[in-house]
Amino acid sequence: MLSAPTEVATVLQLPSISDLVAVARPTAAALGAELLVAGTGPAVRTPILGVDLGSIAPTVTLDAAVEAATDAFRGWRSVPAPVRGALVRRLGELLREHKSELAAIVSLETGKIRSEGLGEVQEMIDICEFAVGLSRQLYGLTIASERPDHRLAENWLPLGPVGVISAFNFPVAVWSWNAALAVVCGNPVIWKPSEKAVLSAAATTALARRAAREVGAPDGLFTLVTGGPDVASAMADHRALALVSATGSTAMGAALAPRIAARFGRALLELGGNNAAVIAPSADIDLVVRGVTFAAAGTAGQRCTTLRRLIVHRSRRDEVLERLVRAYSSLPIGNPLDSGTLVGPVIDTASGGRVLAAIEVAAAEGGELLAGGVEVAAPGAPDACYLQPAIVAVPGQSEIVRTETFGPLLYCLTYDDLEEAIALNNGVPQGLASSIFTTDLRDAERFCGPAGSDCGITNVNIGPSGAEIGGAFGGEKATGGGRESGSDAWKTYMRRATATVNYGNDLPLAQGVSFG
Ligand code: NAD
Repeated sequence: MLSAPTEVATVLQLPSISDLVAVARPTAAALGAELLVAGTGPAVRTPILGVDLGSIAPTVTLDAAVEAATDAFRGWRSVPAPVRGALVRRLGELLREHKSELAAIVSLETGKIRSEGLGEVQEMIDICEFAVGLSRQLYGLTIASERPDHRLAENWLPLGPVGVISAFNFPVAVWSWNAALAVVCGNPVIWKPSEKAVLSAAATTALARRAAREVGAPDGLFTLVTGGPDVASAMADHRALALVSATGSTAMGAALAPRIAARFGRALLELGGNNAAVIAPSADIDLVVRGVTFAAAGTAGQRCTTLRRLIVHRSRRDEVLERLVRAYSSLPIGNPLDSGTLVGPVIDTASGGRVLAAIEVAAAEGGELLAGGVEVAAPGAPDACYLQPAIVAVPGQSEIVRTETFGPLLYCLTYDDLEEAIALNNGVPQGLASSIFTTDLRDAERFCGPAGSDCGITNVNIGPSGAEIGGAFGGEKATGGGRESGSDAWKTYMRRATATVNYGNDLPLAQGVSFG
């Protein structure tokens, strides 16, 4: 049964449309993009008020972008990789210079609080720095040949134009994870951003093209196309796109992956998550409260790595829930551009409706609403949606917890031994991020080991969200299996060629075969 939420909803003070346009227009212009108030291009919407602020200029068609990219690839693939790195270095410098402006556009379009908008752009700067170093480290192998006077080597070579399809919630960072690596690896990038974040994409593309012009690289390395699933599907089908890197829901991946496979293209899929944190008997409660609150309520629950399932040892359940409910009751909700706000709007009313509907389903399955789960009144903005982040205690057999509901909704489950906690962690279709809070080394190692969490990310004493760019990022199962960002993720953006070179005067065949 649902119990009444503890918090009384506050009434929000929000800016006017003209206030937001007054921020967006000069900010976009400083980045080289334009917010057109009476244009006919893709609409620019803000979840802060749930209204359109204007539009961007129409972008090129996919065919035109592919032609420009294919043309750029012919020369770029032969530019030495460290010289290609100079382009990414310049892009990183421009992003550093314009961090505040780009972050403001991200906040306007996605509702991220100011520090998370800045964090998103910082992540772009970080991947640029990583990629510059990488441009001198695209190592192949030299392998011992079985034949005399032969050299056997593995070379990594540019792959071809890369299509990037991105989601609304990381409207620019995800592009940069792909673009920075793709470009140092010798490939142009064609970007189809989320329909919900086109101004962020136009501004980022303007900066990238400026960087290209300044270092004498072709413009066709960075192109932007806009549209919805139809354009994404056309990219999946396009034989000129050697790799399609698609970030978004599992439903999107399920629609695109077979199309890419049908033409033997390469896919990099970063799909939905349903991330858990296990709270072990030895957990440090202060770390739990801070880590869980940020991971579950931060970004209004709209990160792919957002904590959605808390799996608490029975012995700590009451204490953990009491502290969390208290922390949730003091979360400032409101205009994400105000410095005191910690929780901004969800992306739209449809998304908010899905959160409230999931709470109803959880209740019907025997769940109990412990915090939040109600909409906060936003006078004058009927199409915006601000939610008090919710905590719902559910029984172990609850079905709704297996679905990713993309908003500030945390389910709480209880366990008795670690095997059971790991089974609950793994008992969902998705496999992106997971974590355990424990001060027992054995719990931590078991959770991260071969019989532990089946996710692509296994954290200890931090929540599942907030990955650094140095590690490979991605997840298993319905999350798609792709890896982006650090470590050796670059290999997805190159093709491997095994080269055998005979520098002798004889022609010995492999495996001792004799032929005439
Ligand atoms: P979404 O799937 O609605 O849209 C993502 C992109 O795919 C957009 O560009 C959209 O135009 C396109 N698209 C949507 N449906 C499509 C279809 N049927 N066919 C072809 N293209 C389609 O996702 P969203 O609402 O923008 O973002 C939230 C989702 O993205 C969540 O599921 C979240 O977990 C996931 N996500 C995953 C990662 C990751 O790294 N694993 C990162 C960010 C977001």
